[in-house]
Amino acid sequence: MNNLLDRFLGYVEIDTQSDSDTGLTPSTPGQMVFAEFLADELQSIGLSDVEVDNNGYVMATLPATTDDDVPVIGFIAHMDTSPDFSGRHVKPCVIANYQGGDIVLNKDKEIVLTVSDFPEVEKYIGQDLVVTDGTTLLGADDKAGVAEIVTAMEYLLAHPEVKHGKIRICFTPDEEIGAGADHFDVKKFGAEFAYTMDGSELGELEFENFNAAYAKLTINGRMVHPGYAKRKMRNSIRIANQIMTMLPRHETPEHTESYEGFYHLMSFNGDVEKTEMMYIIRDFKRDRFEDRKKELEHLIRKVNSEYGEGTADIEMKDQYYNMREKVEPVMYVVDFAKQAMEEIGIEPNVKPIRGGTDGARLSYMGLPTPNIFAGGHNFHGRFEFVPVQSMIKATEVIVKISELVAKK
Ligand SMILES: [Zn+2]
Repeated sequence: MNNLLDRFLGYVEIDTQSDSDTGLTPSTPGQMVFAEFLADELQSIGLSDVEVDNNGYVMATLPATTDDDVPVIGFIAHMDTSPDFSGRHVKPCVIANYQGGDIVLNKDKEIVLTVSDFPEVEKYIGQDLVVTDGTTLLGADDKAGVAEIVTAMEYLLAHPEVKHGKIRICFTPDEEIGAGADHFDVKKFGAEFAYTMDGSELGELEFENFNAAYAKLTINGRMVHPGYAKRKMRNSIRIANQIMTMLPRHETPEHTESYEGFYHLMSFNGDVEKTEMMYIIRDFKRDRFEDRKKELEHLIRKVNSEYGEGTADIEMKDQYYNMREKVEPVMYVVDFAKQAMEEIGIEPNVKPIRGGTDGARLSYMGLPTPNIFAGGHNFHGRFEFVPVQSMIKATEVIVKISELVAKK
């Protein structure tokens, strides 16, 4: 695992921030630069079928070391970093043998990662932490995942005595803008199941995520001179507000956790004539998710019966579904990951993702894909950090899963 840290430090220097406004795949040229860089590296360590397609997806094969009939498995990580925070000129800093306490990221700019804000950092006393200089994100999400997969493949190539089946790997663009699965060629990938190395803390293992939809509500009002508006004006802002308050007050992101779902009002724009509201709807159980959508439609009907047909209008679209539906019938996929962690001394921490993952969409495209920790913390911001020891463990998990699948 010698090259893991150097590899990671090299990767984060390449700016691969994605951008939802370009309409391109990959959305930014830096991702293609990284894709080509990775392809060269995969060639040089000795993987087969190394390929970068026009959309920037990098695929490669590690051939089997056994003649047994073993399912082809895959490991996936994303190359892009979040558009939420600068990923340019990342200057990672390694704190060897962290001794606890606040970490000064940038003396000049007085940027400090404090234990009071981020108490979890003290879980890693005695370990080596990679942090930022406080001006950019780090990009451990998900370059830690990329580095772990490459390093695991390099390890397996150097240790042919470890018996494993054929392994496919893929590095995807544009995960952070929700498009990482858009052009994923599941058939070409050819794996029976796969894992994304894109979780956070050591031990994380995820195979449940939200069902998700968005709803655009349009309220049509009627403007009349306010001095002469009696029984004539219809103020769309006030009607929109009425709809808002008809929804359960505590079913919002700031009031929910764990398996609780919500309605989230993302934007509200209006004047008397017209108001638009954008909601997202989230829930783990499919039936509760469907009920939430029905409830919104029901409120729209109520408003229309009060103010007249055509006052309120709703447009809804499903975004993604809970992968649990697709993973449950093949639970052994999760069990391999659990067992791998246990065998190398990690306690699996199975929890639901309060969001989506590319793995969720891939699971519905025929490739069941749970998510495994990559090791980082505080994604998408200047306080992002990753313990080197967690990255090493993640690499070992990849090797161990490969071994376990061949033994079964
Ligand atoms: Zn990620």
